[in-house]
Order: sequence, then C-alpha cells, then structure tokens
Amino acid sequence: MARGGEILAATVRLLEKSVRPGMTTMDLDKIADDFIRSHPGATPAFKGLYNFPASICTSINQEIVHGIPSKKRVIEEGDIVSIDIGVKLDGYYTDSATTVPAGKVDPESKKLLDVTKKALAAGIEAATAENHIGDIGAAVQGVVEAAGFSVVRDLVGHGIGVGFHEDPQVPNFGKPKRGVRLQPGLTIAIEPMVNVGKPGTRTLPDRWTVVSVDGTRSAHFEHTIAITDNGPRLGSGWSDRSRRATECQPRPRNERRDRRRPAPEDAALLNRRASRRSL
Ligand code: MG
Ligand code: MG
Repeated sequence: MARGGEILAATVRLLEKSVRPGMTTMDLDKIADDFIRSHPGATPAFKGLYNFPASICTSINQEIVHGIPSKKRVIEEGDIVSIDIGVKLDGYYTDSATTVPAGKVDPESKKLLDVTKKALAAGIEAATAENHIGDIGAAVQGVVEAAGFSVVRDLVGHGIGVGFHEDPQVPNFGKPKRGVRLQPGLTIAIEPMVNVGKPGTRTLPDRWTVVSVDGTRSAHFEHTIAITDNGPRLGSGWSDRSRRATECQPRPRNERRDRRRPAPEDAALLNRRASRRSL
C-alpha cells in the first residue's frame, strides 16, 4: 500500500506542476494515466470504478468532486482545479486529492485552498489511536468554520485498502470521542471538501459531477493515512512525513474492522446525510 502511495504522491506532484491556463482537463487525465502506468503493475484506480469513464476526476471552481475530464473543458486563468487520483498496486488502493490554482487566482480562492489544506492537516493530526472518527471530523470542521467557510456534508471520506471504499465512513464534521474508535492498522482516506458559501450540493445531469448548490467555489484535499501506535502515517506522501509513511502496512481487511456496534447517537452522526463516499 505504501508503494502505491508513493506512486500516487508523485502523480499528484506532477499534476500540481502541470496545471496551467489553456490546457484541457483531458490533458491532465492523460498525464496522470501515462505516469501511473509507467510503473509496473500500477493502474489508475478510478478508471472503470463504478463505471467512471476516466483515470482521474477534475473539478473546476464550483464543482466539488467527480468532474469528468474532457477535451472540451479548457482551464482558464484564475480557475481552481481539484484533481482526485487513485492508484491500485499489488491489490491495494490509495487515494489522494489536491486543488491547484491556474495562474493568478482571487484572494478568496487563495484563502479557500489554504483553509482546506489546513483542515486536512488538522484531520490527520487527530487521527491517533486513542481518538475516534468524530475527532477527525471535529478537527476538520473547526478549521473550516473558523474561517467562515462550510464543510460539505453530503459526501464523506472512507476506509481504504483491498477495497477502494471500505468502512468506516469518515465525515468532515462531527463531535470529539464519537463514532468508531481508531485502531492501529486502520487505513482511511481523509478528504475535506470545503465550500466558500453554503454546504449544499447537487449533481449535474452527467450523473457524476457534484457542484455547490449556491454556485460558490469549492476545494478538495485528500490523503490516505494509516492509524498506528505512533500516530498517523501518510500513505500518499506528505512533505517530511512521507518517509515514515513507507512503514505503513495495513492489516488484512477482516482484522481492520471495528466490530463494536456504534452507540445510536454515533450511528446517527455517521449516517446523517453522509451516505455518499467521495472518490
Ligand atoms: Mg476518497
Ligand atoms: Mg479521492
């Protein structure tokens, strides 16, 4: 899983450097597809997943997630481009997302990217073995709402490993000490989706692209991490922690599940409008 994560992190870095006004979102898809497949055994996880037609998701401005790359979609100066990528290698999935400014963007967009990145970092910091799923959501939500933005609630993060979407769901909102306990060996994708305006979403007629209901801009950052006894380990590369991430070895799927039944209020928290897991 860590090897796939290293390829994924390198793909994300490559695409972050590649985004520029005038190119199409299909150009980005091709760069990612070629790069991932240049590593023996590695494949782009999204291609064909739930019948998704492309190798990455590209979502621009008010598009939150699951935008389909297209030769007709030209990136313009001032756009913010969310790129979501998954890699499958040796039977294990990893998942990461970033939002990239195209050229010079307005100050509000800059702040949106900064806040969403900080919210992801806060969520990762909260992903420790003594905490619960709710601690991650509370940390993300705290950073986002303090900045005056809103957390998307209709889509959530997820467990990941031999399956792309595994239990538990990882909402970007919640209360500390609620939800399933984070146990060492659990591997999850934490992925704040943050809107400038209201949190509401709608899905476009292509049945994939999710946009903010009020048309305000949205950002998305994501990392795959492993819970360990020594704190969270990045499985999709993250500055100086990426080396420690290589130590991460997921447990077999059946051992990773937390078999405790959540308390009724925890189940309500996890399930309330949060049944759709984001890629
Ligand atoms: Mg994901
Ligand atoms: Mg993703």
